[in-house]
Amino acid sequence: NDRNNALGIDDLPIREELRGKSPYGAPQLDVPVQLNTNENPYPLPEPLVARIAERVAEAARGLNRYPDRDAVELRTELARYLTRTGGHPVAAENVWAANGSNEVLQQLLQAFGGPGRTAIGFEPSYSMHALIARGTGTGWLSGPRNDDFTIDVAAAEAAIAAHRPDVVFITSPNNPTGTAVGGDTVERLYAAAQAAKPSLVVVDEAYVEFSHRASLLPLLAGRPHLVVSRTMSKAFGAAGLRLGYLAAHPAVVDAVQLVRLPYHLSAVTQATALAALEHTDTLLGYVEQLKAERDRLVAELRAIGYDVTDSDANFVQFGRFADAHEAWRRILDRGVLVRDNGVPGRLRVTAGTPEENDAFLDAVRELKKEQD
Ligand code: PMP
Repeated sequence: NDRNNALGIDDLPIREELRGKSPYGAPQLDVPVQLNTNENPYPLPEPLVARIAERVAEAARGLNRYPDRDAVELRTELARYLTRTGGHPVAAENVWAANGSNEVLQQLLQAFGGPGRTAIGFEPSYSMHALIARGTGTGWLSGPRNDDFTIDVAAAEAAIAAHRPDVVFITSPNNPTGTAVGGDTVERLYAAAQAAKPSLVVVDEAYVEFSHRASLLPLLAGRPHLVVSRTMSKAFGAAGLRLGYLAAHPAVVDAVQLVRLPYHLSAVTQATALAALEHTDTLLGYVEQLKAERDRLVAELRAIGYDVTDSDANFVQFGRFADAHEAWRRILDRGVLVRDNGVPGRLRVTAGTPEENDAFLDAVRELKKEQD
């Protein structure tokens, strides 16, 4: 067993910037109530499961061939979904799809970032943005937020003007805080980014279907360096599928094709995603239930006495704790797994089913009594 030779990553001739690092990932613990990874708690409905089986069987008959490299049917259906729900007409040529929005973001940084280039995000935010930057050799700049976790627009404009990043990430709704931005913020940061470089502005809308606000998609009009990224992992309840996508000017879609691997999106993935899109209305019905549960979590956590950040996502950031990790552990002791994202004094809980949320609220009510 080679494991016995005590050879570690750092003994390998690995890239310098990867030395001493750990892989991204929340603990996957076997706990009754798992509210830590912003998954949708509802399994896919049985009619959709049956439709997936049908479409996958059809795809299986052709698995001796490579899949449609350009995923045209899928991009057409994703464009239809965006046009119907996003308040902005989108065509297949504006859409690109990959294995999760993480892969979409990686392809964007491979094409628009890379060695000698930089990207900026406004932190705390989705930590994979910085990690994908590192993996693609892109320098990372951490921009500021206000104390209430909104983006400090003037400071962000100043940071963009000073550092002239090649890629600007705006996550709305933001993970882990739940904070959404208005169109005016994107307009200002886009203008600042164009004046400074010009650079690519990526709006990560992984959670937008849960927002009280409309999608920022209409801002694509007249902004060829703007990209909106989306995913089927959250609203479509299909985290296991691995399907993310973007909407942008067709030239951006052409650019990511320079770095994508050929046939990156398997025929099975394409067939499954197409089946899920046939059931969009049912799945968006679950989203409405989750939004109501998210609003209930915010209200009840405030009633218990916690400091809660306004949320437009399917999760809620709450605190404040003298020691967030200790609080995380004590909630876990009660059978409920939430997330410690490393934001001082705060934890994040994903909206689950009403029963799961009740179990969580009971746990944090008890914790509050102990800590007062
Ligand atoms: N963006 C944000 C803000 C996220 O929180 C996540 C998932 N945690 C992703 C992108 C990536 O999701 P996926 O790769 O499953 O589409």
